[in-house]
Amino acid sequence: MIHPLYSDSLDCNAFVVFDDKTCVIDPGINALRIISFLRDEGFKLDYVVNTHCHFDHTGADKAVLDETGAKLAAHEIDALPLEYADSSLILSDLFGKPFERVYVDVKLEDGFIIDLGGTKLQVLHTPGHTQGSICLFDEETGDLFSGDTVFAEGVGRTDFPGGSLDALSESIEKLSQLASEGDIKSVYPGHGPASDAGAIARAKKLFA
Ligand SMILES: [Zn+2]
Ligand SMILES: [Zn+2]
Repeated sequence: MIHPLYSDSLDCNAFVVFDDKTCVIDPGINALRIISFLRDEGFKLDYVVNTHCHFDHTGADKAVLDETGAKLAAHEIDALPLEYADSSLILSDLFGKPFERVYVDVKLEDGFIIDLGGTKLQVLHTPGHTQGSICLFDEETGDLFSGDTVFAEGVGRTDFPGGSLDALSESIEKLSQLASEGDIKSVYPGHGPASDAGAIARAKKLFA
């Protein structure tokens, strides 16, 4: 089950996904948004998962981890800037706020499964927006959490440090394989509204 916390500001969309265990995908900047939601709904948080290292997705990591005792998971490449508080990759200066370094308990690789009990989220390494960007895919439901790799309309920027248009093109190709096999039903991006597999098809056209 998914509780979306959509954002209409600079902050990212956060998604609370729960089964036997609960995770939040990208707490964003505003820790209180997540902490008060979890408290109000009576959730115990097991994992925070970052789709990539950018501040608008990770700024609240430290506060949420401290408050909940959850474990942090991120791709092994984007885990490094999070652990060293590398502002040039996290872009915290751009947001005018300091990033508090965090320890990444679970370093993710392509194919890793985040096991919430019945719900399993598969890690798809989709570099391009950052080197360690991931999407999370629920094979059962066809839900894809796409971070800043794919939006309802368009794809993530590749002009930040670590970005690569070539890598993004390959990542979109990888997703479009899944979409063409009918496996992707819904797309939940890091910003803007949710979509369906059409988001992947539209993204692919940009690279045609
Ligand atoms: Zn980003
Ligand atoms: Zn973002």
